Amino acid sequence: MSQILLQEIKNLVQQERRITRSILEKINEVDHRRLYATWGYPNLYEWLVKDLGYSHSAAYRRMQAARLLKSVPVVSEKMQSGGVNLSTLAKVQTAIRLEERRRGGKISSETKQELVQKIENKSAQETDFLLAEIFPEQKPRQEHMRALPDQEVRLSITLNSEQLGKLQKVRELSSHTHLNTTWSELIEMLSDQFLNKKDPVRMNQREQNKARSSSNPIKIQAFQHLVQKNQDPQKPSDHQISQGSQSLPGSQKSQYPRKNQIDQTAQDSESSSNVPARSPSQPLNASLTQRLSDADRKRVRPASFKTSFKTKPRPEPKAIPSALRRKIWLRDDGACTYTYPQTGQRCGSRILVEIDHLEPKAFGGRHTADNLRCLCRTHNHLAAEQKLGRNLMDFYRRSFSFKEVQPS
Ligand SMILES: [Zn+2]
Repeated sequence: MSQILLQEIKNLVQQERRITRSILEKINEVDHRRLYATWGYPNLYEWLVKDLGYSHSAAYRRMQAARLLKSVPVVSEKMQSGGVNLSTLAKVQTAIRLEERRRGGKISSETKQELVQKIENKSAQETDFLLAEIFPEQKPRQEHMRALPDQEVRLSITLNSEQLGKLQKVRELSSHTHLNTTWSELIEMLSDQFLNKKDPVRMNQREQNKARSSSNPIKIQAFQHLVQKNQDPQKPSDHQISQGSQSLPGSQKSQYPRKNQIDQTAQDSESSSNVPARSPSQPLNASLTQRLSDADRKRVRPASFKTSFKTKPRPEPKAIPSALRRKIWLRDDGACTYTYPQTGQRCGSRILVEIDHLEPKAFGGRHTADNLRCLCRTHNHLAAEQKLGRNLMDFYRRSFSFKEVQPS
């Protein structure tokens, strides 16, 4: 009876290996066709975690094993026989990737195949020892983040002497304003300095504060005063104010426009074809009030100012103006807006986010808010592929050799 159970389990394990191998092959197909982007994910790893529900480590193992399977086809039969598994394959692929990065070049398929043969029938720990012998220059992972209570985290990092020297120098140079800072305070100070320069939210807030402080309350006060005087017949007219202003103290005198300034504004406004001319008998205050009312109390500008814009329209700048970029960034919350229509899956990535033209500039698209959106690089390229074709974009990718996105 126990032998039957054992045989059933062995059959299931064989079935499990077949399924795992098939899943890896399908993952490679999704990766090759970049279908994760179409489905609304910024990279393969995010798709495996968020859509298929794998844990971070399970997704990472499958992604790495699938890449090794792609470059070393013999992995397929070794998986079926049980000689290698997801853990050992992922360790080999990680070691290969680190070595390629260290050397700055690709490792050949033959070398990869030799590595796979060496780890055959080895446990995960034996594979670690073997890889450490083959790649002695590789260092273990240097960064680690662990969650703590109260929304805090413990971040463990390893710095080389040059990196530590830079941080120490920042600490020394900032000691006048930030004495005895801890490392976490130092990181926060540097982060603040960077964000003040680069964060669109902070930049927008700063501009709003600047605009608020630079608005001139004296001019508004002067117009309010003129309107108020027109409504109250007991109070003196603007001519009287102008004449009487001679006797006002210096600080108060500046609150009122000079007579010749008011007359000039009235003359300029009268020259506009939309505003009726003032009759000689009409008081200046009444004339001004009427114009303010007609224009919904909008700011009165000289006619020459308006016509100069009508006759000489500004050419559109090549780059998107920074104020407009900030506006789009704030509207889209700095996240990728790509959404897969069939499922409603929105990417929402905040990594490598770029401002994209819905209608490309090369096709006549303009720098307008309704023609601009935030897209991550993956979806920016997908949009370009849909417009320009996959072949051209593949050529573009090869030319610039984009770095693959790795999970943190
Ligand atoms: Zn995206």
